[in-house]
Amino acid sequence: MTFIPTVVVGPSGVGKGTVIAQVLAMCPQVWLSVSATTRAPRPGEVNGKHYFFVSEPEFSDLIEHDGLLEWATYQGHRYGTPRQAVIEKVEQGRAVLLEIEVQGARQVLERLRPVRSVFLAPPSWADLEKRLRGRGTEPESVIEQRLVTAREELAFRDHCDHVIVNREVASSAAELVNFIGLGLTSDQAH
Ligand code: 5GP
Repeated sequence: MTFIPTVVVGPSGVGKGTVIAQVLAMCPQVWLSVSATTRAPRPGEVNGKHYFFVSEPEFSDLIEHDGLLEWATYQGHRYGTPRQAVIEKVEQGRAVLLEIEVQGARQVLERLRPVRSVFLAPPSWADLEKRLRGRGTEPESVIEQRLVTAREELAFRDHCDHVIVNREVASSAAELVNFIGLGLTSDQAH
């Protein structure tokens, strides 16, 4: 069975990371692309697992050598998807997930064929704002900027193949697993 790579997109704070972590826990055969970023690691983040944390010159080098499938500047930092690893995993028939923001998603939807997209939406604007504030890891100026960006990002849902409203992690994860085409056993589906 071959899988169509799936881009998971949605505003910052909507819970993409949490839902995807649940999907990986349920389905270890899913492969999540590890992005390169110039931002500093947050407490607990591990280089090579959560991101490849690289310097600005290293990131520029990746772009110059065509090492990125897509990249974008987001909140002052650059983020990109290493190309080779994604191509390899797709060729191996793995179920590939990319967790990226909207500018990058646009590029991937143009460059990778076939590809599918899932938009993870908040139940409401108030809920998203609460989540962005609740994370407590960023200063107010960063959160304000993220809210502005989030409003723009929400408009991207109309360009996606499927929308999952993230009311509850377990059901969103189950919906994503079904969309990827893996299905669930009855043990996992509660
Ligand atoms: P954070 O700094 O909170 O980890 O990520 C900020 C945003 O960058 C999130 O919306 C996340 O999905 C996105 N992001 C993570 N990796 C990539 C990537 O490789 N490319 C793009 N375009 N966005 C990414």
